[in-house]
Amino acid sequence: TESLSTRDPELFGSITNELGRQRDEIELIASENIVSKAVMEAQGSVMTNKYAEGYPGKRYYGGCQFVDVAENLAIDRAKALFGCEFANVQPNSGSQANQGVFTALLKPGDTILGMNLASGGHLTHGAAPNQSGKWFNAVQYGVRKQDNRIDYDEVRALAKEHQPKLIIAGGSAIPRQIDFAKFREIADEVGAWLMVDMAHFAGLVAGGQHPSPFPYADVATTTTHKTLRGPRGGMILTNNEEIAKKVNSAIFPGIQGGPLMHVIAAKAVAFGEALRPEFKAYAEQVVKNAQALADELMKGGLDIVTGGTDTHVMLVDLRPKGVKGNATEKALGRAHITCNKNGIPFDPEKPTVTSGVRLGTPAGTTRGFGEAEFREIGRLIVEVVDGLAANGEDDNGAVEAAVKAKVEALCKRFPIYPTL
Ligand code: PLP
Repeated sequence: TESLSTRDPELFGSITNELGRQRDEIELIASENIVSKAVMEAQGSVMTNKYAEGYPGKRYYGGCQFVDVAENLAIDRAKALFGCEFANVQPNSGSQANQGVFTALLKPGDTILGMNLASGGHLTHGAAPNQSGKWFNAVQYGVRKQDNRIDYDEVRALAKEHQPKLIIAGGSAIPRQIDFAKFREIADEVGAWLMVDMAHFAGLVAGGQHPSPFPYADVATTTTHKTLRGPRGGMILTNNEEIAKKVNSAIFPGIQGGPLMHVIAAKAVAFGEALRPEFKAYAEQVVKNAQALADELMKGGLDIVTGGTDTHVMLVDLRPKGVKGNATEKALGRAHITCNKNGIPFDPEKPTVTSGVRLGTPAGTTRGFGEAEFREIGRLIVEVVDGLAANGEDDNGAVEAAVKAKVEALCKRFPIYPTL
């Protein structure tokens, strides 16, 4: 009966402060969003108490009749949302969704072909420090030097040379739509499975603003917490019954134990929200906002990798201003604009420094910002960056304080979680 505030004031304080940070700061981290109160209610529910190893109707524990309802709702809604026949909603994260597919389709030592980290790929696509890079023979493709777009000729050449069992399309910093048909063609030429990791743009697919990986992909993975705006977690989708069976065994008992039923319940809520017409409007606005922000940043003298974006994310090349990604992330942070430093393709700087920052519009769009607000945010970013270039890291306080005041005013006009 005791509430968190009195049971554990220290921990409660950290949550209150985090709520304040989210309310008062502009969130531009491309992989983040602001979930609904309903999603949080489901995630904070009694379903956290339940063990439910197995799948609906085939559990290894008793008393699963109600969590079965939640998982079936999540599965059915996921299938409706992405137009596919099978969904496994149990992966605890995007990384575990990918690991689940690897466990289903590969053996240690098999060859996989994915995008390299420096070009925008994800760690789990075969990067050296990740299990995917250690347990598999990971071959990596990148982007073309002249336009920073995926080099499909390189993908084809590497596929022919190395004969991968699995090809992965998708990544964490890819601002442009991926040509799934071309990936399918290449996969067919070498007899490989095609996995699309749509973690970043799944919400845009669900909202009809991005081509679907189906029918091209054999299997698609995603996180549920980025553009899709659900709780933190992962999911695997396919139209192939054989793959579906293997995936189910790979997730449980292959790599996970009891599923997080409270998170699965929250996934069901989020997928239900994504099936509504408002979600289409949100997804459309996410892309429009990203294009407005990119345009404003270019007007302010910054470069945008590939000259713009057709998704929710962009990579800002800071080199025209002579500042680094790490210093810019910190300066923007002091002005209450949150983003992450990010390497740009062929970045001359180390990953701890970088020449870029990655910006995304999902969280701001959920908050209610439109193109006018994102143009204002673009001007504020340029103000901070120009200040940083002129004054240096230690003497830009006045500029950052002035921008912070404007950020505060903007956030006040678009309040979040008013009843928490
Ligand atoms: N795949 C892609 C393309 C991602 O961007 C991410 C997250 O950054 C993941 C997988 C991993 O997701 P998680 O952080 O939930 O493990």
